[in-house]
Amino acid sequence: MEDLFETLRNMKSRRGNVKICPGCGDSSLQASTVFDGVILPTRFLCKKCGYSGYIVLEAQEDSGRRL
Ligand SMILES: [Zn+2]
Repeated sequence: MEDLFETLRNMKSRRGNVKICPGCGDSSLQASTVFDGVILPTRFLCKKCGYSGYIVLEAQEDSGRRL
């Protein structure tokens, strides 16, 4: 059980992740509803191109690694 806790903690403590729209590449995505991330996977909305969905690209802001 300790391993599981450790894994969850590591997931939660990951910082600097940027969500990127797969449609237009913009990073101003918005999580859509209150329940997202609790029961359902988070759905994202792109204000720029109108993309709405669960699949987004992710990049780490602080590591300097690019997609
Ligand atoms: Zn977009």
